[in-house]
Amino acid sequence: MNPALTSVLLLVALAAFSWTTFRRVAPLLALRGDDRLSRFGERAALLLRFGLGQRRLVDPEERGPGVLHVLVFAAFVVLALRTLTLFGVGFEASFHLPLLGEEAALGRAYLFVKDLVVLGALVGVAGFLWRRIVTRPDRVTRSAEGVVILLLIAGLMVTEIAFDGALRVVRGAAPEWAAPAGSIGAAALGPSGLGFGSPALGRVAVAALFLHLALILVFLNVLPYGKHFHILTSLPNVFFGRLPPRAALRKLDLEAEDASFGAATVRDLSWKEAWDVYSCTECGRCQTHCPTYLTGKPLSHKEVNRALRRHLARSAPDLVAHARAKDGAAREAALGRLPALSTVIPPETFWACTTCGWCETACPVLIENVPRLVDLRRQAVQVDAVFPDEAGRMFKGLETQGNPWGIGSNRRTEWCADLDVPRASSGQPFEWLFFVGCAGAFDDRQKKVSRAIVRILREANVSFAILGEEETCTGDAARRLGNEYLFQMQARAGVETLNGHGVKKILVQCPHCLNAIRNEFPQFGGNYEVVHHTQLIERLLAEGRLHPGRAEGLGAVTFHDPCYLARWNGETEAPRAALEAAGVAVREMPRSGRQGFCCGAGGGRMWLEEKVGTRVNQERVREADATLGEGGGVVATGCPFCLTMMKDGVNETGREGRLRVLDVAEIVALGLPAGREGPARGTGEGGA
Ligand code: SF4
Ligand code: SF4
Repeated sequence: MNPALTSVLLLVALAAFSWTTFRRVAPLLALRGDDRLSRFGERAALLLRFGLGQRRLVDPEERGPGVLHVLVFAAFVVLALRTLTLFGVGFEASFHLPLLGEEAALGRAYLFVKDLVVLGALVGVAGFLWRRIVTRPDRVTRSAEGVVILLLIAGLMVTEIAFDGALRVVRGAAPEWAAPAGSIGAAALGPSGLGFGSPALGRVAVAALFLHLALILVFLNVLPYGKHFHILTSLPNVFFGRLPPRAALRKLDLEAEDASFGAATVRDLSWKEAWDVYSCTECGRCQTHCPTYLTGKPLSHKEVNRALRRHLARSAPDLVAHARAKDGAAREAALGRLPALSTVIPPETFWACTTCGWCETACPVLIENVPRLVDLRRQAVQVDAVFPDEAGRMFKGLETQGNPWGIGSNRRTEWCADLDVPRASSGQPFEWLFFVGCAGAFDDRQKKVSRAIVRILREANVSFAILGEEETCTGDAARRLGNEYLFQMQARAGVETLNGHGVKKILVQCPHCLNAIRNEFPQFGGNYEVVHHTQLIERLLAEGRLHPGRAEGLGAVTFHDPCYLARWNGETEAPRAALEAAGVAVREMPRSGRQGFCCGAGGGRMWLEEKVGTRVNQERVREADATLGEGGGVVATGCPFCLTMMKDGVNETGREGRLRVLDVAEIVALGLPAGREGPARGTGEGGA
């Protein structure tokens, strides 16, 4: 073999790789810190499940390309040892790693697996080339880089097969099932194939080996320049992934001397957010159910990553200068040269997101999209004071009356004026605090749902109370619209009230209240067991405390999963169990459960106008209608915002005669025995 050539190849290639990688990673040192090393066990589990296990790539919805990726990925993992071996062979022909010699049982087993993954990788590459060049699905970005990388991988596999095959012919080895790739190589090069003689085959083996080594080093040096850097960064990215509670947004320390109020420039991103950008494979899975992308808004998680990657590369010199600066003036000068981040991700993009979470749920490498978009909103609201007028009206209502409509807070209990609902302030003990929520208290349609819940609680003899006029909005929408200051005011007040009453268990009817109280109030000292009403109904059914009969007169029923219940809080079964108990056989929409399609109201979008593209709620109503079929029927849901959006969608698309929108609680209440309403008389069915 040729130690000199091997040494030169290694030295030049590794020096070049170290330099380019340093240039990509150095700017990250100037970015915001973020602890992504704690809770090691949970991180290792993430790595096993989503990284090495490729969990999201083999999702049933996308199985074809997922399997192709698994084939290529498996080759990279298995061939790591083979690569070390082949570099060793470059120095000394008889080299092998300990225990992996061709005579050892382990070595033979490894070579068999190696051959399988080499052939598998060729199948994977062929499949990907077919997708890129022939079928060209919408979610795949067209780029020459993708084709070049696939051809490089194919070249690596072919040279591996040629090296192995040539050696087999030289040694006179017979074809065998235990060496499928090598046997194919031998057949192609030997007497039955290209007919190379013995001396020529020796030269073919050496040429194949050094071409293989050169291709590995070229491949390594191409990676840091484009999206295929993810081959190196994505496994660490999965390890650094966000741990539960995933749905909680970062709490800003607004009192700190160097407080950051949002993302003004790229410097306000965290190093992990930059690592995310490097890890994007541009697979486009994040777009497939994104409500904004599919309805024509200028937002796609993938495109945000592409824009940020270009911007990071352009900003690298200033970020490095900032990190190295010895004095404040030099640091400020470097910062001053960075353009506003809103010129890279424009307002029409960061305001479009409903924070439905689909993109993060779909992303195979666990890239986080929502927090950075919210940080841009925070900058717009809290520093630049440039935000949609409708958001301003909502903030004002929250500030003055503790609810987004700005309705007098003294009217918070009108919905239950005739129900004699116990108050937490009465001093009487209670098990569950029913947190009614602003929609449940002020929205005429949702008030009917609140009353249905009270009826169910009474039917099952549940001990409960409400806060009444002491209740105030959780501030969920304010936080997601970027008004962290207002959210923190609301959250602190809410925690103070709840703790003041010694509350331990909270029942909510709104998944946004659920998310804020369960996942974000702990940031302010509020720790409670929080359940959604469908979850409590499921529990009461299991305990034999609730026995609803069949809810009559509904026709066909489909269920629209609220994003903040199904996706962010993992609950898809309880609403279906409750509906089943009421005699309803749910017809599932094509996009349901954790793959559900947003109604368009999350992330504070409930309060903003939707001026670009088609309306998200109409898109969802069309899907529900198609699922229900000719006679129409009922769209059931479990969220006040979803209820409003679906109801509006029904009206906007002229489907009032065909579709009704009901909450699960209303359907369950319909099946309760007549004449046992008790103080909760007047509850029951609403309608679109
Ligand atoms: S963000 Fe994730 S899902 Fe979207 S293109 Fe990148 S890797 Fe794929
Ligand atoms: S959170 Fe939802 S709306 Fe926002 S970018 Fe992701 S998929 Fe689209």
